[in-house]
Amino acid sequence: MTSCAEITKDDETIKMKALALLSGGLDSTLATKLILDQGLDVEAINFVSPFCLCEKGGCGAVGAAKKFNIPLKVVRVDEDYLRIVRNPKHGYGRNMNPCIDCRIFMLRRARRYAKEIGASFIFTGEVLGERPMSQHRQALDIIEEEAGLKGKILRPLSAKLLPETEAEKKGWVARERLFDIKGRSRKKQIETAEEFNITDYPCPSGGCLLTYKEFADKLRDLFEHKKRVTLEGVRLLKVGRHFRFGENKIIVGRNDSENKTLLQSKAKHDYYFEVKGCGSPITLLQGHKTKEAVKKAAFLTAYYSDQKVGEVHVKFGKDSLDKSIIVSVPSKEEVENLRIK
Ligand code: SF4
Repeated sequence: MTSCAEITKDDETIKMKALALLSGGLDSTLATKLILDQGLDVEAINFVSPFCLCEKGGCGAVGAAKKFNIPLKVVRVDEDYLRIVRNPKHGYGRNMNPCIDCRIFMLRRARRYAKEIGASFIFTGEVLGERPMSQHRQALDIIEEEAGLKGKILRPLSAKLLPETEAEKKGWVARERLFDIKGRSRKKQIETAEEFNITDYPCPSGGCLLTYKEFADKLRDLFEHKKRVTLEGVRLLKVGRHFRFGENKIIVGRNDSENKTLLQSKAKHDYYFEVKGCGSPITLLQGHKTKEAVKKAAFLTAYYSDQKVGEVHVKFGKDSLDKSIIVSVPSKEEVENLRIK
């Protein structure tokens, strides 16, 4: 059976439209190619969160959409998404990745957008069994159900292993031209990409910071100490080295660019620290400015400055470096005891 990717309306032949969830990774790029090859009109939607590894957001999706010459809507997630990350109904994966809830969130938004643009169905690059948390059969079913899309999400790369979706039943796509890929090996995808001359897929492994232990530790710490977490607060987790001293958070810049970002992100009541006269990080001290907290922030600044021994004169203040404190350079062990992990 071939697909009937066109319908006739008011004597006019129009193509069926499908909406791709396009991350720009290999799987969603291939899925898009498979659907385009069946003669459907495709538009794409891409979600950018503060947890994306790619700084600019949109990353591979922009290139893939350009290559296929299809419209792309880039959606930046809002604080609703943070609430899901903080308290996911279906729990976390290995780190702080709430993959099932995350997919439900995206697909609900995609469903609304599909309606807006008149797309008849949504498809994704999901591969059965490729990701342990969100791509096993039961998870795929939960995601569909809770996104309000039961039987309506086509997964072209694994379609032949899954129940027929509405798009196949109605003949909008030909099931026999879809794939039966499963598991974590990406061999078949890589071979197919070569056949299709798809060489540029910049996020082959996902690119989500929530799956990284080091980042997850910092996020968990933030959730534990802040009632209200903002997107800006989350973005700051990507900058600098992070330390915890009771209710104080101390962030130490790792290079000039991070030092600049820390100064720009400084809240009105935060103190900042610097060692003058040698290479020095900028350090931010958040929370109550107790004597002990100031001392810890100063000694971390001293530790990461170029003055590696002896007593260090650290300048600090709220609006300017109008105060100073002399501290000894701490040991590595003292520093590690404060690091968030
Ligand atoms: S890896 Fe990150 S972006 Fe991907 S589904 Fe999981 S939480 Fe969402």
